[in-house]
Amino acid sequence: MSSVPHPLGLVVVGFGGMGHEHVRKLDGVEEIAVAGTFDISQARQDLAVSLGLKAYTSFQVVLDDPKVAIVLLATPNDSHKDLAIAALHAGKHVICEKPVTLNSAELDAIVEASKKAERLFMVHQNRRWDEDYLTVKKLLAEGTLGKFYHLETRVLGSRGIPGDWRKLAKNGGGMMLDWGVHLLDRLVFLIPGKITQVFCKLNYPTGQEVDEGFHLFLTFEGGQTALVEVGTCHYQSLPLWLVLGTKGTALIKDWSLEGGIVGVGGNEGDAKPIVAGAGLTKTMAPRTEKGEVHLPLPVVTSDVRDFYRNFVATAEGRAEPLIRNEEVRRILCLMEAAFESHRTGQVVRFEG
Ligand code: NAD
Repeated sequence: MSSVPHPLGLVVVGFGGMGHEHVRKLDGVEEIAVAGTFDISQARQDLAVSLGLKAYTSFQVVLDDPKVAIVLLATPNDSHKDLAIAALHAGKHVICEKPVTLNSAELDAIVEASKKAERLFMVHQNRRWDEDYLTVKKLLAEGTLGKFYHLETRVLGSRGIPGDWRKLAKNGGGMMLDWGVHLLDRLVFLIPGKITQVFCKLNYPTGQEVDEGFHLFLTFEGGQTALVEVGTCHYQSLPLWLVLGTKGTALIKDWSLEGGIVGVGGNEGDAKPIVAGAGLTKTMAPRTEKGEVHLPLPVVTSDVRDFYRNFVATAEGRAEPLIRNEEVRRILCLMEAAFESHRTGQVVRFEG
């Protein structure tokens, strides 16, 4: 017998790429029943019907339907705030796609509406379930690398910014809001303590009106540093993760989790100089076979459907939220500092 007698009715608003993905994922979540979808595009409404889904005729009809307990927003970034506040006022719980809003003030307005309506508002920071990230988290917790001091995390493509609204500032386009929000949301759980300094350079290689990528350098209060890079005009791949400790370096090449750890092996004595380019170096001479060990990554598996399960359990008062609005706000503030750093060309002092 099911432990969940009444699945909550959910409507996906914005049945584009991600809206469709939510419907697919929700298929395996018994706590939720997809009641239908709504999209302002007739083509997407038709697609929903062709898939056997109910296509609601307007957002207001969604809000007026008492069978709908949860509204899931998968519309372009600039529309999240108004749609979320309207849904909360109508007594619905809300799941919202990332980036939650274009700035922290907009999120504050939603959180206030959520408190007033006593309805749950949670952001779909699904990449906290990414197995590459969870593997790095485990690796750092196990201390295999010795004292951790720096990491680099990257996502790189060569096809430019996809779609239409993602290229427009008015819709909250650009790669900082699109991918930066994911990478930063994961990163801050890997390195304890406050971030103290932010330096960022956005890039616009093909002349779009929004950032096509960026390099972002963070310093934490414990002295650790992190480099976050996103690129859409990058024709060679670089590792998804590079993690450096005093006793080893871990590398994760790609989403298939190819990679490993190289650590310190037996005593190999003094390094011998090697010829390097037009010079000689002892410092950069590679370790000998005896001097290093190769270890596998401590691969972690996950199920992103736990996000929806936790949402329902939290809405019903049975659990604490896995994604907290304060955490999401911290990342919005961090991205605001990154934009300021790019604008001023300065390191921005940060206390959060
Ligand atoms: P998309 O363009 O494929 O889909 C957006 C859909 O929203 C379109 O079909 C459009 O017609 C519809 N729409 C626009 N305004 C609307 C409104 N007011 N009411 C109803 N429908 C409306 O975009 P996408 O890639 O699916 O992105 C949607 C959201 O999901 C964005 O916030 C994006 O950042 C997020 N997203 C998240 C992930 C993730 O992994 N969490 C991945 C991709 C996209």
